[in-house]
Amino acid sequence: MNDLTRQSAAVLADAIASKEVTAVEVTQAHLDRIAAVDGKVHAFLHVTADSALAQAKAVDAKVAAGTPLGALAGVPLGLKDVLAMKGEPTTAGSKILEGWRPPYDSTVVARLRAADIVILGKTNMDEFAMGSSTEHSAYGPTHNPWDLDRIPGGSGGGSAAALAAFEAPLAIGTDTGGSIRQPASVTGTVGVKPTYGGVSRYGQIALASSLDQPGPCARSVLDTALLHAAIAGHDPRDSTSINATVPDVVAAAKKADVRGMRIGVVTELSGDGYQAGVSQRYAEALDILRELGAEIVEVSCPHFEYALGAYYLILPSEASSNLARFDGMRYGLRAGDDGKNSVEQVMAITREAGFGPEVKRRIMLGTYALSSGYYDAYYGQAQKVRTLITRDFNAAFEKVDVLVSPTAPTTAFKLGEKLDDPLAMYLNDVATIPVNLAGIGAMSLPIGLAPEDGLPVGMQIMAPAMADDRLYLAGGALEAALTDKWGHLLIEEAPAL
Ligand code: GLN
Repeated sequence: MNDLTRQSAAVLADAIASKEVTAVEVTQAHLDRIAAVDGKVHAFLHVTADSALAQAKAVDAKVAAGTPLGALAGVPLGLKDVLAMKGEPTTAGSKILEGWRPPYDSTVVARLRAADIVILGKTNMDEFAMGSSTEHSAYGPTHNPWDLDRIPGGSGGGSAAALAAFEAPLAIGTDTGGSIRQPASVTGTVGVKPTYGGVSRYGQIALASSLDQPGPCARSVLDTALLHAAIAGHDPRDSTSINATVPDVVAAAKKADVRGMRIGVVTELSGDGYQAGVSQRYAEALDILRELGAEIVEVSCPHFEYALGAYYLILPSEASSNLARFDGMRYGLRAGDDGKNSVEQVMAITREAGFGPEVKRRIMLGTYALSSGYYDAYYGQAQKVRTLITRDFNAAFEKVDVLVSPTAPTTAFKLGEKLDDPLAMYLNDVATIPVNLAGIGAMSLPIGLAPEDGLPVGMQIMAPAMADDRLYLAGGALEAALTDKWGHLLIEEAPAL
């Protein structure tokens, strides 16, 4: 088999199961690739080479013994550093957690292990998943493999860049406002934010608990579905986990058919404010869906224009509360503990030293929004907007099977370009945030390169809650048509590093 790092997860899993290659060879090839290119990309914060090779050896032993294998046995994966992995550094991109090693596995990690997936290491991210560029990581930014001077998106830029740099065929992200989908969009990869409650949050370091959702990332729709199936399903350890059968996303990805499907174009999520090349590729993708037999209709969701505003009240409110636990007493960094300072002073000094500027900004915003006398005007009002957005989606899904929009308003911007302008940074998620507020599922998949800069453009597909299979049905069909047209996946055009 040629270069193992260029293969899909589905192909690798088959090759390992049929003894064409060993899991150790596959893992070593990816570790070598990381050693060769990650100095430029910085997708990984921590590479777990020893445990990855040990895991791969165990898979090879199972293959030799004829023991039943997990669905993606021996396939390597990059894990966003916001998910606890027993005994390995888990920082959430923050200095405040430097040196902390979780004493337990998150449910996502436990399921990856059960599927015999090999975890290569922890991927870089904006601190506590706050950001759209990975520049808010306390450990330095990740670079977009398409153009190293550009951002890979965020907060899960490390996971997306690891895929685009062929350092791993699979990755895990988390999506609170777009952190799986926007990085997928700007790196030419696929990412899915499952229905809220579809994948367990147990062991995910919480940002905004009512919005957070882990999900699968890969270079193709089928690989994403295979990973989705491996991590999804009810978990009694997560109180908001849905106790219902997970839709068959793998069958949907294989079926890949939009004939007779009604697809709604969201009026409010296109046009003004979207880069010309993004709009052009989006229009072409709609034409392809129409040619494939879908019916395209326009749908208005009038309250979406308030989504960003509501999100930036709800998210900081929940984050300010969730992040109260990082006080130097229980985990990671402790500063100012000189025997003279009081406990309160040690907590304050630790938080001052351990949190970056964006995290502090959001803690202050959230504390203000929740403060007595302002609660109803800010947090309460934002929750009402959230209900209106959910109603917009419900009304739309009475008319159509899925909704679509561009994933992000622009292609990857330059590192540093938006760093001093928080509002410009927040606007990246204008199309992805409504999905989190309503708790439904959505996919981003690549639909071409913008003519003006040659960078990837993503389309977002949105489906009703617990109908994540529709994302794969439509995404798979569109990907197949585009692959026929180009003769390969878009990611194969990524410039060699
Ligand atoms: N970019 C958004 C934010 O900064 C989304 C974050 C996320 O999904 N984790 O909040």
